Amino acid sequence: MDFQNTNDAVTRRIKAMTDRVSYLKANDLYFYNQPVQEMRGGAKAVVHGREMGMYASYSYLGLVGHPRINKAAKKAVDKFGTGTNGVRTLAGTLTIHNELEETIANFKHTEAAITYTSGYATNLSVVSTLMGRGDYVFSDKINHASIVDGCLMSGAEFRRYRHNDMEHLEGLLKNAPADVAKLVIADSVFSMDGDIIDLPKMVELCKKYNAWLMIDEAHSLGVLGEKGTGIEEYFNLFGGIDIKMGTLSKTIPSVGGYVAAKEEIVSYLRHASRAYIFSAALPPAQAAAANEAFKVILDEPWRIQRLNENTKQFIGGLKNMGFDTLLTETAIVPVICGDDNTAFAMTREVQHQDVFVLPVVSPAVQEGLARLRATVTAAHEPADIEHAMEAIEKAGKKLGLIK
Ligand SMILES: *Cc1c(COP(=O)(O)O)cnc(C)c1O
Repeated sequence: MDFQNTNDAVTRRIKAMTDRVSYLKANDLYFYNQPVQEMRGGAKAVVHGREMGMYASYSYLGLVGHPRINKAAKKAVDKFGTGTNGVRTLAGTLTIHNELEETIANFKHTEAAITYTSGYATNLSVVSTLMGRGDYVFSDKINHASIVDGCLMSGAEFRRYRHNDMEHLEGLLKNAPADVAKLVIADSVFSMDGDIIDLPKMVELCKKYNAWLMIDEAHSLGVLGEKGTGIEEYFNLFGGIDIKMGTLSKTIPSVGGYVAAKEEIVSYLRHASRAYIFSAALPPAQAAAANEAFKVILDEPWRIQRLNENTKQFIGGLKNMGFDTLLTETAIVPVICGDDNTAFAMTREVQHQDVFVLPVVSPAVQEGLARLRATVTAAHEPADIEHAMEAIEKAGKKLGLIK
């Protein structure tokens, strides 16, 4: 097939993307996949040869590069090598995998845990393994893409409730047949808006309508609760969630995903979920790094304290300047810009002042709510944060977002 001479739908889609990217590049508005040349602690990074304040990292507790974690990873390489060379069932299970799953189960106050090689694969596989045709899933409108994809792949009836709207959720639950299997699923902290779910109400509704509850803790692990163990600790509501999902790629400076739950549920997933059975196990270094990171979180609670102080300073400061930061209460701070091109222009202005932030535009967020999506971590100093806010203020004034 001659690509140049066809005009089918695929060709048109590719051309539309090519044109959009060329336009953005020509106008100095293209910020996709900017290479970080070097990490300098958790708070600074070298980009385009310049040292910038890092405000686009998910390393909420500043654990990336932590000496204990690096050491654990190196030790695992010496002991096991760099790969697992296969799936868990066929000689891919190492003692470090079992140790990691035990550590996660303890950290999350559950009987057992299972790991996968990414958070994305975890949601895709777990939702589609638990749910099937004839079942009903209820998903928040702005849930992460991996949850949406898992729901679609499951073939279950897919119901989306308005963001964090518990009345709407209840209405949908009420309307579903009483005798079908039901799953309610949501991010704990929303990845684009930073707001927190109403867990007590969700638990109550799931009990009332006999539904399973699955919560994705990508942005609450290490962030919520005094010990950083997550959303259940934050609400002092242990045991309310049936399936506690999380990633090993954000606060935990590794890669992978997990589910912590009752033994029977985990055993079922181990024997039935395809991403576990048909995809290679986590590399030893990554499993060991993750295992050590959970221990560091418990040993160094001051990091959570620091993160909370930094979050307050950052959100409070930006609000005082007049920015719309939606309902965030966490380290994810949206700075609303409006249309996509304004978000790109804000990014350019802020980055020119050596503050590394990135834009999020449609379709990742609703049209008209394009934004800078800035994050603070425990690694930032108050003076750094002050400087970053001044840069954002200057850019916001130049572009007319604030007075
Ligand atoms: C990042 C993220 C994921 C995916 O995790 P990975 O480990 O990066 O694949 C899943 N859910 C939410 C809410 C996320 O933010």
